[in-house]
Amino acid sequence: MTTPLPEFATAAVLRCPLCEQDNACSMAACEDAAQCWCMGTRVSPLALARVASQDRQRRCLCAACAQADAADI
Ligand SMILES: [Zn+2]
Repeated sequence: MTTPLPEFATAAVLRCPLCEQDNACSMAACEDAAQCWCMGTRVSPLALARVASQDRQRRCLCAACAQADAADI
């Protein structure tokens, strides 16, 4: 037995909250979070700060947005 999530919620976690592109997040795809690209990438604190607070613990950034501001630090 599985409890299906509302379709909008499932779709939202699969997309980057900043650019709405596929975030390729392992956790969102119900795979091992340790295998996610974000575990091996330095995520920009500035990029995180641009994520709405209600999305911050729910939606993963995409690789491009996570590193977008890194060069400016
Ligand atoms: Zn993005």
